[in-house]
This record gives sequence, structure tokens and C-alpha cells, in this order.
Amino acid sequence: MEQRLRELSSTAATWIAKAKGIIILAGAGMGVDSGLPDFRGDKGFWKAYPMYEQLGIGFVEAANPQHFEADPAFGWGFYGHRLGLYRQTSPHQGYQLILDWSKRLGLPYFVVTSNVDGHFQKAGFDEKRVLEVHGSIHHLQCSLPCGSYIWNNQHNIAVDVKRMRALEVPFCKTCGKTARPNILMFADWNWVSERSDAQQIRYKNFISEIGHEKLVALELGAGLAVPTIRMMTERLSRQGVKAVRINPKDPVIARPNLSIAHGGKEALEAIDRALSL
Ligand SMILES: [Zn+2]
Repeated sequence: MEQRLRELSSTAATWIAKAKGIIILAGAGMGVDSGLPDFRGDKGFWKAYPMYEQLGIGFVEAANPQHFEADPAFGWGFYGHRLGLYRQTSPHQGYQLILDWSKRLGLPYFVVTSNVDGHFQKAGFDEKRVLEVHGSIHHLQCSLPCGSYIWNNQHNIAVDVKRMRALEVPFCKTCGKTARPNILMFADWNWVSERSDAQQIRYKNFISEIGHEKLVALELGAGLAVPTIRMMTERLSRQGVKAVRINPKDPVIARPNLSIAHGGKEALEAIDRALSL
């Protein structure tokens, strides 16, 4: 196992050292080493939120925009709690390693993440080089929405965790309706995508400036349940980008791409050792 990790990391390091740019694609697994829950299946979700098990509510039901209309305090119970959790948690050392490589090798980067935690920016990644495909918990929009405004979430939202209800909720400054996180939820027709759309344009420009064949993609902790990130990696691969899939449970990707069946932090540390040889 150790030997195999060394070999794969060494190949990944060679690709990275020769590349002209790196794309980091991250899913929920990236946050696990920082101590964040990944909501894998209802069991994983209920382990993180036992109070929802008592209510018979799974992740798909909790992450639903209807609550912000029907019962805003309940909708914000889930998101207010997560907001506090993401603010309190520090991104693990793996984030720093990627930034170090970028600096040391003069390697421009772009991050694509399905995580809404803002942890890449918190770790020091440039806001202009992050694409948050599912939005961000640190930004708000109107729940209607009455317009396409997106603004910074500066609220501290206290939550009664026994009932998963927020003690107060933010409002839209324009129409007075409830404000909600600018996150793409399940069955969500009201998500304001302007911020992610602008990020998407910067991402496309990044790729076309460097060219697919000079890029390496490093996918970290992207699961099968909502496979947005995995599909983006596979698309990049078809377009000529060399891809490395790091995932302890579902690492398979077509060759000549690399599959590393380890957690994100462990694999990044192994690649870092190989890069330092
Ligand atoms: Zn409004």
C-alpha cells in the first residue's frame, strides 16, 4: 500500500512539475480532513445531525429551498449551523501544500469546488481563481428572488440545535422577504447563479490561456452521489488534461489518468514529498 502510494505520488509529482497550470477539483471529501462532515448517505448526514434523524429528514429534505418560504427559521436551522461550523473550522494542511507548489513552481492554479464552505479562500487561495459550482454559504440572495443581487453574509445565525431552528433570520434589503444562502440546493429553481457564472467565465479563460494539454487536474474527495465534480474532471481528461483522482472509496478513473485510493490530505502530503525529492 505504502509502496503503491509512493509510485503514484511520484508520477503525479512529475506531471505537476512539468505542467504549466494546475486545476484543483474538490468535493466534500476535501473537508473531511479538516473535521467537516461529508453527509455521505442519510447515515452520514444523521451522524452529523442526529436531530434530523428524529424528525425523519435526510440531507435532500434539509437542503431544500422551500423551507425559506414555508418556515424560514427551520431552513436557517440547517444553514445557520453549517455557517457557524465552517467559520470555526480551519482548512487542513493539504490546502497550504497546493499553495506552496504554486509558489515554488510558479504554477498558476484554478480551483473548482462543490463545497460551499469557502475554505479555499480561507486558506489563502485567490477569490478570483475559485469556481464554486454550488455557490457559497458566505453569500446571500433573496429567497423569491426579487432580483439577482448577491451580498456577503455578515450575520451570526444562532441555532437552537435541539429543534434545528434559527433564533433569527436575515432579510432581503430590497423586498423584505427572507434572505437565503446563495447555495444551489435540491430542486432549486430560485438560485441566483450570477456569481458562479462570473467564476465560470474566469475558469474557462484560465483553461484557454494555458491549453488543455499543458494542464494537470487534481481531483480530491469528489463522491458519486452528486457527481458534478467527477464529471468535470472526466471532461477535462477527454479534452487532453492529465487527471489524478484522489478518493479513498471511489478512486477509479480511466487510464492513463491516475487513481489514488487515499484521503486528500494524505495523498497531498505524499505528492509533496515526491515533489521535494
Ligand atoms: Zn427580495
